[in-house]
Amino acid sequence: MKIAVINKGKIVVKETPDIELNGREGAVVRVLGCGLCGSDIVKFIHKISKDGTVLGHEIVAEIVEINSKTNFKIGDEIVTSHHIPCGECVYCKNGNVSMCEHFKSTNIVPGGFSEYVYLSEEHLKNVAHVKPENLTDIEASFYEPLGCCVRAIKRANLRGNATVLVVGLGTIGLMMAQALKAFGMDVMGCDLIPDRVNRLRNLGIAACNVREMDPNFKADGVFMTSGADKAINTALKYVRNGGKILVFSSTPNNWGYANNEIYYRELTVLGSYSPAPVDLEDSLNLLRSHQVKVAGLSTVYELDDIQKAFDDTMNNRIMKAYIKIKE
Ligand SMILES: [Zn+2]
Ligand SMILES: [Zn+2]
Repeated sequence: MKIAVINKGKIVVKETPDIELNGREGAVVRVLGCGLCGSDIVKFIHKISKDGTVLGHEIVAEIVEINSKTNFKIGDEIVTSHHIPCGECVYCKNGNVSMCEHFKSTNIVPGGFSEYVYLSEEHLKNVAHVKPENLTDIEASFYEPLGCCVRAIKRANLRGNATVLVVGLGTIGLMMAQALKAFGMDVMGCDLIPDRVNRLRNLGIAACNVREMDPNFKADGVFMTSGADKAINTALKYVRNGGKILVFSSTPNNWGYANNEIYYRELTVLGSYSPAPVDLEDSLNLLRSHQVKVAGLSTVYELDDIQKAFDDTMNNRIMKAYIKIKE
């Protein structure tokens, strides 16, 4: 089978032996396609992942071999996530599921940018679902990233009709804004790029160029879906005193939020990283009901052209790459 691996600063497609269950519990799935996540780009650029690593986790796949106590069967088309919390440790018990050691150590094997993937029984039981029939493969591939947004919204724990600002309208920002609206919030989005502002407006949600924001606008909660250091100032400017800032992206310079600003203005700054199984279920419902629309965000690449998908994403030429793996 073909896999795409990191090799000396490039993504290289190569052949490797097929995966078989060989008596193990779980399933072998044929990957139909896999979204390219911002975290894959970060792992690639900053050399966090070693040579030989297969990136990709936003998969849509078809079960081709299975040995499981779950109800999945051969031929099922599924979505899945890659990490599973243990539910027992200090992190899990305090709601920080993505800090759980088990969560961090579980994964799909070898990774999403591969023709076949092994899913453990634990994956099938906790984070895999049959793909809803009314979703295309590409739409369904947003299951995991939208799950991350859902968890962030829950962690922010704002009132149902709170005024919220989404800073940065890439694919994550566009999903976050729609999910916040589905949770009943009064949503405004902002970005510097007119096309992105228009995309949110076309989804029926208020949006504005950052340069044209009403200086008197104040949000109960600000969701930081921009990866730019400067966005921190935008958040501090538009969050109301006593409000919350939800950090949802790394930034290149790793600047912080000013101590005194947090103190005198009674701000809450909190992070959210990765979803819990229950957030993934909510994500699938939001996609299925089209409360979160993701059609038209992705640019499709063949597995053999995956390097171009990485390059185009890194150079901001596209909103989101989807690697189509099965013909
Ligand atoms: Zn992801
Ligand atoms: Zn745990």
